[in-house]
Amino acid sequence: MNMKKPILALLFLAITSTAFAKDEKTQHDAHEHGVAEINIVWEKADLNIELLSPAFNITGFEYQPANHDQEEAIAKIEKKLNAPNELFSITGAACKTVKTKLESPFEEHADHEKHEGKEEHKDHEHESSTHSEYAINYEFSCDNSKSELSIDTANVFKHFPNMEKIKVQWLSATKQSSAVLTKKSNTITLN
Ligand SMILES: [Zn+2]
Repeated sequence: MNMKKPILALLFLAITSTAFAKDEKTQHDAHEHGVAEINIVWEKADLNIELLSPAFNITGFEYQPANHDQEEAIAKIEKKLNAPNELFSITGAACKTVKTKLESPFEEHADHEKHEGKEEHKDHEHESSTHSEYAINYEFSCDNSKSELSIDTANVFKHFPNMEKIKVQWLSATKQSSAVLTKKSNTITLN
């Protein structure tokens, strides 16, 4: 079993049969350095943001840390990932972080012996030795939600300079849409 299935990404694949969703899946499978995905579900007070990214965009490398300095660098970077208020600037509602769930590719080795079966093990090896990905889920609770909510991701691009493009899919109580964010165009508005 792959334990790193991003929840919201699966939701979008399940509820959409649009061309975009198919593209998105292809894109995700392609694991393109510089490109990340954000999936957002917003319904009344509940706002859920999922960030999926090649580790390259976040840490600059995807191999397991080879020394203490690299381990420290990862810890420092993951601290940033665990601070949604410093990554996302939300306007249109007062949102508080409820929960952050970070899945780091750099923790996998601890679980190594859990993998059973040759083929699965091979897949895992391939994944960890060639490409690694982060999956982070942020849960917010928002007061006085209006009919529009804007999320500014400028700090994501600022903190992680290897990040060039973020493909966003969002779902609100009434609408569903998508957009591509860049360093220059870094705000998504949901309605
Ligand atoms: Zn990669």
